[in-house]
Amino acid sequence: MKRIAIITCSKIRDIHCMGCLKCFKASSKGDGEFAAHGEGVQLVGIFGCGDCPGLVMPKTQLVMEVADYHEIDVDVIHLGTCMVKANKTASCPIDLDKAAEMIKNKFGLPVIIGTHNY
Ligand code: SF4
Ligand code: SF4
Repeated sequence: MKRIAIITCSKIRDIHCMGCLKCFKASSKGDGEFAAHGEGVQLVGIFGCGDCPGLVMPKTQLVMEVADYHEIDVDVIHLGTCMVKANKTASCPIDLDKAAEMIKNKFGLPVIIGTHNY
């Protein structure tokens, strides 16, 4: 069982994508990018990117420190489909490939871009 944290687009979450219901659904069914985790997943955290203009690194650092304080382990980080959409259809300043690489290097965790195709 992989313990997953998802980073969301702060402009989309709860505005165009309500309650993160899609990611809860996809993770429970093993749909989309969650299919990569064959043995199933447990969502342990969902947090905003830090908002524009792309404060994803300090925000992730803060969340990982709080997770550590609460003794919550994270195995994998996903960049939500909301971030992918913000990148493709709006003016999101985050370079997702670069952000994934930076998060992977800083926190030693695999990072998967995207979460579902709903
Ligand atoms: S794509 Fe997923 S993480 Fe992003 S807002 Fe929608 S449900 Fe939440
Ligand atoms: S930086 Fe990108 S992902 Fe974050 S709120 Fe702005 S548009 Fe959304």
